[in-house]
Amino acid sequence: MTDARRDELAERLVLVRDRIARSAERCGRSPEDVTLVVVTKTWPSDDVRRLCDIGVSDFGENRLQEAERKAAELRDLPISWHFIGQIQSNKAHRVAKFASLVHSVDSVKVATRLDGGAEREGRSVDCLVQLNLDPGDRAAGRGGVRSVSLEDVASAVEAAPALRLAGVMGVAPLRADPVGAYRQLAADAKRLQALHPRARLLSAGMSGDFEAAIESGATHVRVGSAILGERPPNR
Ligand SMILES: *Cc1c(COP(=O)(O)O)cnc(C)c1O
Repeated sequence: MTDARRDELAERLVLVRDRIARSAERCGRSPEDVTLVVVTKTWPSDDVRRLCDIGVSDFGENRLQEAERKAAELRDLPISWHFIGQIQSNKAHRVAKFASLVHSVDSVKVATRLDGGAEREGRSVDCLVQLNLDPGDRAAGRGGVRSVSLEDVASAVEAAPALRLAGVMGVAPLRADPVGAYRQLAADAKRLQALHPRARLLSAGMSGDFEAAIESGATHVRVGSAILGERPPNR
């Protein structure tokens, strides 16, 4: 049976993997050190199946209900879920049920509630502290803590029995050069790692700018539209 969507996804996946490999090589890094997280928000579970079939194992979602539904529908697949969206602290325990790596821990309260959920599930959840790379633009609602409170949130994660502090995450500001933002993020990541040596992951870069992120040391890039196609605005 022919599946045009599968062919389209496979074609775009090859292009993205190639761009990742070339930017890693350009800065003397190994392509294997960069994990591709394919962001499937707004796209159906069947697309996740197709991508899993062609070798993708890491998937990102940013809305709780949609993520829960897909995780339940796709329970049979050998894949990991990354939660990359803003978390309301009163719902954080639900994220702990399905996520392997939570990229968007941005308060002590979210860390505490995630830990409670993980503990009840008997799971251990890896966490990144999300930094706000655009302090002048909180209205955009992209979330994240300021550099100054990074250590407070990181310490709360580190102290939580069912969570593991794994590193930091950032989203580059809209309509701005991402290079400066990613350099700042890399500096914060280094500062954190000096205090917490095992926190060595850096999640940065999306479809439009992941090359710049890789050059700043990203270990995880979160790529949606370059593989799945354009989404409705604001998703
Ligand atoms: C949607 C989203 C992405 C992927 O964006 P694309 O531009 O489609 O690659 C990455 N990170 C976060 C936090 C997102 O919400």
